[in-house]
Amino acid sequence: MKAYDGMYIGGAWRPAAGPDVIEVVNPADGQVIATVPAGTVEDVDAAVRAARAALPAWAATAPAERATRLAVLRDVLVARQDEIARTVTAELGAPPKLSQTVHAAVPIVVAGSYAELAATYPFEERTGNSTVLHEPVGVVGAITPWNYPLHQIVAKAAPALAAGCTIVVKPAEDTPLVARLLAEAMHEAGVPAGVFNLVTGLGPVAGQALAEHPGVDLVSFTGSTAVGRRIGAVAAAAVKKVALELGGKSANVILPGADLARAVNVGVANVMSNSGQTCSAWTRMLVHRDQYDEAVELAAAAAAKYGDRIGPLVNAKQQERVRGYIEKGVAEGARLVAGGPDAPREQGCFVSPTVFADVTPDMTIAQEEIFGPVLSVLRYEDEEDALRIANGTVYGLAGAVWAADEAQAVAFARRMETGQVDINGGRFNPLAPFGGYKQSGVGRELGVHGLTEYLQTKSLQF
Ligand code: NAP
Ligand code: MG
Repeated sequence: MKAYDGMYIGGAWRPAAGPDVIEVVNPADGQVIATVPAGTVEDVDAAVRAARAALPAWAATAPAERATRLAVLRDVLVARQDEIARTVTAELGAPPKLSQTVHAAVPIVVAGSYAELAATYPFEERTGNSTVLHEPVGVVGAITPWNYPLHQIVAKAAPALAAGCTIVVKPAEDTPLVARLLAEAMHEAGVPAGVFNLVTGLGPVAGQALAEHPGVDLVSFTGSTAVGRRIGAVAAAAVKKVALELGGKSANVILPGADLARAVNVGVANVMSNSGQTCSAWTRMLVHRDQYDEAVELAAAAAAKYGDRIGPLVNAKQQERVRGYIEKGVAEGARLVAGGPDAPREQGCFVSPTVFADVTPDMTIAQEEIFGPVLSVLRYEDEEDALRIANGTVYGLAGAVWAADEAQAVAFARRMETGQVDINGGRFNPLAPFGGYKQSGVGRELGVHGLTEYLQTKSLQF
């Protein structure tokens, strides 16, 4: 057990203002692995002041210098990749292989992409008799969740730094250790004091103080829709920019003629990965009635194969929440074909990979984000019916379409109210804009669209 007493503010590890700490628990075995300070309003204020003080100089650096820092940051993350993976496994419970190939690897790619974009993005352009300057928004307050704990910070910090902004991060209370590691990496990469700051703490205390701080120009939040709604309201009242990356209930639409076995297997893997704790997970599988029984059988078999390869959920509260949803699914008349509400192990926050058949669009498990390894398989009559079901939630973050003919899949995808659609198993693209339609959020992350979130424009007329 390690007791950390500092927070990274103004380029140094400073003791917290108050005495409270957060226990970091490994959800695989319930062991307390570390404590970190629970930051207060005072700590947030110190961090925002440090970020403000650092802003003018950082905003004035040449983009090439910012690109260099981000390239060095990427190299430091590469050098520390194993340590990052071990840390995510310890505090989130992710299986070691997933920690390596996703939790540690994706932030490296994203940091690298912003090193490139900082060097190449046209921060100045001409239109008519004007020069348009793309300038940093200012101080960013970032509030992040635990499910992809490093990725979600890097997806904000890298573009913010590339744009010339400075940033204060409040990571999730469950996963502060990998956030501390990132602060060390920033330091090692030579990012100037005050450009990146980290305040660990509780959402309603440190998170709220950051969202409300008048010294913050842009609040970028990833997490639940309930908290996002409040943060959006606070930001609007202060006329601050806000970016919200919220929940999802994404549809995996399997059109007749698609490779059914592949579509089902990839779909099940998509939901079970990271124990279902993925905002963009395809948690609703939509299958034509003629192929429905076969798809259900395939999905149940695929889920059953997961066994010990699935990690625990992040904490006991999430485990209870997910088991509650499974019980609700049963109570509302859905048919369990794999898994169920009983904990598969005595120790740790595990939930069995679960598949429900005979799910109808109005059921709770077809409407609400469960954030666990739970798949709902729904039946549709024809394409119009599939589209109605796919678009029939308040969310619109991601999705998938499978068809024999790519053009048919694309035509369907165009009619989906959602921010990303993978066609016939298309791969994750770290440069593609990621973000929500409808209540899945406001704004986009990653690639050039993610960079422009951190820029504001000024026009000079000649
Ligand atoms: P959450 O409460 O929204 O947490 C996200 C972040 O917001 C954390 O850093 C949290 O701090 C902070 N926060 C909480 N209350 C706040 C407040 N009043 N003001 C400012 N910041 C605040 O999410 P959760 O409770 O961890 O998870 C609940 C559900 O949210 C999940 O089951 C899932 O459905 C959804 N979720 C979605 C995503 C996503 O990527 N879209 C990610 C995580 C969760 P603490 O860590 O101290 O709570
Ligand atoms: Mg919370």
